[in-house]
Amino acid sequence: MSPHAGTGCRAQKKPVVVLAGEDRNDRRSLRIILEELRPDMRGRLVEISPPVRLREASPANLAHRVGKLANLARARAVRENAELACVFVHEDLDAADSEAYVQTRERVQKALEAELGNVHYVLAVWEMEAWLLLFPEALTALVSTWKIPAKYRARDTGRLQDPKRIMMREVTKAPRRYRESDAPDVLATAVALGCHERPAGGNRSWDRLREDIAQCCGRHLQQR
Ligand SMILES: [Zn+2]
Repeated sequence: MSPHAGTGCRAQKKPVVVLAGEDRNDRRSLRIILEELRPDMRGRLVEISPPVRLREASPANLAHRVGKLANLARARAVRENAELACVFVHEDLDAADSEAYVQTRERVQKALEAELGNVHYVLAVWEMEAWLLLFPEALTALVSTWKIPAKYRARDTGRLQDPKRIMMREVTKAPRRYRESDAPDVLATAVALGCHERPAGGNRSWDRLREDIAQCCGRHLQQR
């Protein structure tokens, strides 16, 4: 709580960064990455819960959905009595990396920028689980029986088919199989061990997120 609370002074709160995603696990995962990689994000992140559904929207629907999301983000900042620094919007592509990834990301990013200005569209290929496959050491540190088979190492994990299935069927075994709610813990372990600096493979959407975070801290947070 601000030291001025209750004194009649208006609290000088730092501008907030709003997180949106397809579900709670996405938002938790994004929060962990942002807070752990950039401590200046701590205490600034707030969430909006309606699921993001942008990549498959028709042009008219996209504008409508982006407008609704922007209104929610602005209202969330107002609730915090803070300015809106920017918005991170996560969605899975649900397909392997290809030229379509680049086109879809740019199309939705432009629509978001037109409405919000400072915004990062985080489109994961194929889905967030492909990022987890970059961090074999973290997976084994979290659950000792979890191991990424050699055939998935040093690969472009964005081009693997159905990484969630790979996580559930090939990396993890009964009785302790991977669940979607494990994703934030895997990422937290990866960052704690420093694995994010030496991923065991590549993934353009992961690299893009790292660039977005750097850009955000250099521009959207610095200017405030
Ligand atoms: Zn930003």
